[in-house]
Amino acid sequence: MATVSDLIPADIARSFSAIGLRQEGEKLFVGLPASHDAAERETAREQLQNQLGTTVEQIPVEDALLIEVLESIYRDGADKPIEATGLSTGDSEGPIADLVNEVLERAVKLRASDIHVEPSESDLVVRARVDGHLEVLAKLPGNVSGPFVSRLKVLAKINIVERRRPQDGQFSFQTDGRQIDVRLATVTTLNGEKAVMRLLDTRKGLTDLAGLGLAEHQLVKMRKMVHAQHGLVVTAGPTGSGKTTTLHSALHDLDVMNLNVSTIEDPVEYVMKGINHIPVVDELGIGFATQLRALLRQDPDVILVGETRDSETARISVQAALSGRLVITSLHATDALSVIYRLFQMDIEPYLVAAALRGVIAQRLVRRICSYCAVEYDATTEERLMLADFQLGKKVKLRKGLGCAVCRGSGYRDRQGVYQVFEISDAMRELISKRPDPAEVAAMAAKEGFKTLENEAFILALEGRTTVQEAMRLVTRDVH
Ligand SMILES: [Zn+2]
Repeated sequence: MATVSDLIPADIARSFSAIGLRQEGEKLFVGLPASHDAAERETAREQLQNQLGTTVEQIPVEDALLIEVLESIYRDGADKPIEATGLSTGDSEGPIADLVNEVLERAVKLRASDIHVEPSESDLVVRARVDGHLEVLAKLPGNVSGPFVSRLKVLAKINIVERRRPQDGQFSFQTDGRQIDVRLATVTTLNGEKAVMRLLDTRKGLTDLAGLGLAEHQLVKMRKMVHAQHGLVVTAGPTGSGKTTTLHSALHDLDVMNLNVSTIEDPVEYVMKGINHIPVVDELGIGFATQLRALLRQDPDVILVGETRDSETARISVQAALSGRLVITSLHATDALSVIYRLFQMDIEPYLVAAALRGVIAQRLVRRICSYCAVEYDATTEERLMLADFQLGKKVKLRKGLGCAVCRGSGYRDRQGVYQVFEISDAMRELISKRPDPAEVAAMAAKEGFKTLENEAFILALEGRTTVQEAMRLVTRDVH
């Protein structure tokens, strides 16, 4: 298959500010700047059609995105993995430092959340996690492994001589005027040291609750929970499900000028004005419970506890929630209903859970269909079977991305939360206080109109925001 840069030659692409999105038969779809008016784009389309000798259809693309794609696909080999065959690995650290920089910059351009540096017997593979999926960023000769990881260790100011024990550290770098914080962790495998970097874009705008993509009825419930005077509000989901973003969005919704808002986090990821951010200091044994106890003497109104991992933290949170504070925290639990049982397991008495728990928001992330190559199609028989719960008619329209230059062929761009917002009703509160079994809770929740996470994901697919395949992945994926 031709790469995207083959669709339109570089000189034509630059002179028209046009990017080749995808080819469909004889038809070429090109992206043109959204800031140009329709007539201008039409003229450009006609000229492109003449110059390229093929039918051209145009799609407006947001200017910043267009420039980014234009730059990345027409840089030499930018849509292929980085290679460094002729690299000298002698005593000069220059080439290695450049290579590391190139990898970091490329990862940021791809909006990667993590970078994996993995040595094998013969080579070093660098992969980036983009929208939850790993893709190869660089394939390097095996002899680069040691110097590459050493360079990362130098940046993170950790011991470069120690190659057997796992280590972690952090560093920051600037790219495109943004500061990116990196948390590095190394571990030794049979083939040498492996490194993982977590990238945190400090400029990335945090959103308020309205920006999370909740359904309207969920947003109303969520706001009610977050603006309550007291009680416990829990977000649930596995690692990487977007819980931290949701917690911070909740804080964004609060009137911090009139409330004393404090957070306890490990680590503090986003700093917000008007909020006291308190880090956990594991090395000194100052964990969530210790910081939480200290914080309760600071006259707080709202407390965000980054994660409730142990029964002591859970117990103090519940006590705080029952004594006039609003406590917002996250728990490692499969779905909204299982949070009740996680709290029971953490030795919180059912009557306390019933009294303190105001609501739960459980979540997962699914990939969003790329809007530049989305098409509508008739659901297959298999897809209609998966959607059987919704009792739809014979013809069901769904959407999918065909793959284009903007989404680099994946058909997806960015992610979207799948949410379950579970507001505890009076009837549910009474049931919880009796230590019910899960089936009883599920039955009552269903009666109250509560849906499973899978069904919430299928709703997003029916709305055309994600695909049925993405929704299906939630059914098979579990908390890890
Ligand atoms: Zn696309």
